[in-house]
Amino acid sequence: MSFHATVLTLYPEMFPGPLNLSLAGRARTAGVWSLDTVQIRDFAHDRHRSVDDTPAGGGAGMVMRPDVLARAVDAAAPEDDPRPRILMSPRGKPLNQARIRALANGPGAIILCGRFEGVDQRVIETRALEEISIGDYILSGGEPAALVLLDAVVRLLPGVMGNETSGMEESFESGLLEHPHYTRPQTFEGLEIPDVLTSGNHRRIAEWRLAEAEKLTRERRPDLWSAYRKQKGQT
Ligand code: SAH
Repeated sequence: MSFHATVLTLYPEMFPGPLNLSLAGRARTAGVWSLDTVQIRDFAHDRHRSVDDTPAGGGAGMVMRPDVLARAVDAAAPEDDPRPRILMSPRGKPLNQARIRALANGPGAIILCGRFEGVDQRVIETRALEEISIGDYILSGGEPAALVLLDAVVRLLPGVMGNETSGMEESFESGLLEHPHYTRPQTFEGLEIPDVLTSGNHRRIAEWRLAEAEKLTRERRPDLWSAYRKQKGQT
């Protein structure tokens, strides 16, 4: 069974965009995953086909209407559709590799991209939308966030990455940032590849990589470091 994404957006021409190239593009052609878009405006029924209106209580900007969004969600995803319904939202739960992996193991995702000031609260509640954020900054719309989420999911789908194991050793999979990488030439601007990496001693290489990963994580990401220490029972 392949992964099926449905993206609800006012800008369907942004998709598949970068996901049509490289690994993700080849995987889509091969049928590993599929994507369709729903133009939210098609569900606006008034004369001006408006999808937004002024915020109740006043203030700047516009808010996406719940009736229009609800119709779009219902058309894209009948009640028995098992796929999670996601709203890209800066107020959402921060996206991480664990959520990405869970999505990649599932049937797909229905992804709603906000615009303007965001969406009416009632559609989030009645359609049980899971709010997901890609970081503590504000985009002008949910589309780039949806592309980020899908890129991260698609590379985990079976057969997409040539080397299946490389996915398991990456940053965050072990709770650590990844160790540094080197490749040829042996000397670059006076800097050598660390001896251990060319020693052929696989046990020492693994130890070196773990030590480097731990050092980097401790220095750069105290949050990940303390979670990692807890997980290993060393608080
Ligand atoms: N007024 C809102 C921001 C709206 S930005 C606030 O202050 O919280 C418009 C749309 O872009 C949002 O509805 C959401 O779909 C998307 N978006 C913006 N930043 C995002 C982020 N960090 N993660 C996920 N989606 C984001």
